[in-house]
Amino acid sequence: MRISAGMPPRPDLGPKPRLGYANSRIERAAEKRVDDKALAAAAADPRAAAYVIGWDLIVMKKGAPLSDPLFTLAQARGMDGAAESIFLGLIDGAPRFGVGITAAAAAALKTRDGFHVTDLRSIAVQGLVAPDHLPPIAEAKAVLHWHTRHRFCPNCGAATHPVCGGWKRDCPQCKTEHFPRTDPVVIMLAIDGERCLLGRSPRFVPTMWSCLAGFIEPGESVEDAVHRETREEAGITCGRVRYFASQPWPFPTSLMIGAHAEALTTDIVVDREELEDARWFYRDEVVSMLKRQHPQGLTTPPPVAIAHHIIRAWVEGESGFD
Ligand SMILES: [Zn+2]
Repeated sequence: MRISAGMPPRPDLGPKPRLGYANSRIERAAEKRVDDKALAAAAADPRAAAYVIGWDLIVMKKGAPLSDPLFTLAQARGMDGAAESIFLGLIDGAPRFGVGITAAAAAALKTRDGFHVTDLRSIAVQGLVAPDHLPPIAEAKAVLHWHTRHRFCPNCGAATHPVCGGWKRDCPQCKTEHFPRTDPVVIMLAIDGERCLLGRSPRFVPTMWSCLAGFIEPGESVEDAVHRETREEAGITCGRVRYFASQPWPFPTSLMIGAHAEALTTDIVVDREELEDARWFYRDEVVSMLKRQHPQGLTTPPPVAIAHHIIRAWVEGESGFD
């Protein structure tokens, strides 16, 4: 452990990378959603374009080095299995839509010439499209997923129908209005001086370690959820919690709420149902993981994920708990 008076030297990790799915350039123009004439004009605008999504698969025009995820609205709505259209908003005045097709129809396009069809995680991690496309694709994917899960009214069971440019579903029988949902998740880094707590899910690639995370439950504050999840998954009690940043996480409809937390205890008890392992990492080791220079090849998640940024902020002395 490094012994130093005051702050440890700041490691040189280079310019901060962009967080995936966040900082959307879309102006959502919500006033147009309730205006049928404005929606029709947006759809007829020659600059209008649409993202095409079949469940987890994003349909793109194959290109090199980047593929193009935008189709004309007529092309998108003319695809096999086309269902709901969402008005996403405007980008530099140009209307953008999301069009849902069935997962089977999207999968069938995988083998068609000129198409590139893959899942959004691969697109984000491998940088297959220009970064400005990620936030509107995330927006479209989350809302389209909600539509596929809300075809029937949870109140009375009648078939619902989409209205307001895809931002609401109405029940004709009991008149309930249904709105798209976002599921909040806390993702946090517990800190004990020069060490931070990282865990491994069995779903991770074998070398990756990340922040702990979990869904916020009804009736819970962000702070309460950070305390509970850290205690449940790793047996660590936390005190102060500091908000860091948030990230839309369209897998399928989450909002990741990133935080740093002050660990009050240090004895780890891993919940093996949730985690493969959890342990403390010293700052120097985490620097080598962020730089992908760890002697055993251990890594943090890639920069597209907020976990990378939460971990890096602590390494760089920006957690507020140094
Ligand atoms: Zn109903």
